[in-house]
Amino acid sequence: MSALSVEGLTAGYGDVTVLTDVSFSVEAPGITAVIGSNGAGKTTLLRALSGLIRPTAGGIALAGQNLSGLAPDGFVTAGIAHVPEGRRLFAGMTVEDNLMMGAFSRRVPAAELKRDLDAVYAIFPRLGERRRQDAVSMSGGEQQMCAIGRGLMAKPKVMLIDELSLGLAPVAVDVLVAALKKVADDGLGLLVVEQDVAVAFELASAVVVLDRGRVTRTGPSAAIAADPAVRAAYLGEA
Ligand code: ATP
Repeated sequence: MSALSVEGLTAGYGDVTVLTDVSFSVEAPGITAVIGSNGAGKTTLLRALSGLIRPTAGGIALAGQNLSGLAPDGFVTAGIAHVPEGRRLFAGMTVEDNLMMGAFSRRVPAAELKRDLDAVYAIFPRLGERRRQDAVSMSGGEQQMCAIGRGLMAKPKVMLIDELSLGLAPVAVDVLVAALKKVADDGLGLLVVEQDVAVAFELASAVVVLDRGRVTRTGPSAAIAADPAVRAAYLGEA
């Protein structure tokens, strides 16, 4: 089922238009990857989809609910979690406290939060081992696990992840890819910005190609990965 639908989205900063007439949808369960060169507008897209910047045209709907005009916290309560580029964990706070920040806007009994926390530790056992450690003292891969775990604690319908693998060791990327596939199998919709197209094709079942703020291709991962123009542009193949 299409969980998130984006229709004719145009957005930017002040007078500068970065995204023009962007349309695509994200299925849940499932993983959709966004690929594109530097400056294509991938981060801007995620910022628009989490309400951090306001589009000048177009619509965003989550499970049929129109999100246009909501403040960022409205996007969170509607069911969108955003894992930002660079993780942005809270320094001086433990892993567990960082995870709990993700549940900030939920009004649920402590026992339910504890169950959700345990579910995050089941997905990322390393976080359970490090639960009392200062989050920003961990490795990059562990910090990314914590940022994703924090997103999961919001109990989203769709989670947006910016630059999943950037700067991480290949072995850490493998752990993250396996964990995200499991999370998607369990029902979540994921939209992942990924600059490493090989990782994007391995991770996602659908791919959106963004070029200078416009969607140039969208479809099943295998079809996009087999497209000679995509291979030439993003894998450097002749
Ligand atoms: P990268 O992979 O390099 O991060 P990206 O695809 O995520 O690229 P964006 O970060 O969305 O691209 O940037 C798209 C365009 O928007 C760029 O031209 C950038 O200079 C511009 N831009 C980004 N943030 C701002 C801002 N706060 N104010 C003005 N322009 C911005």
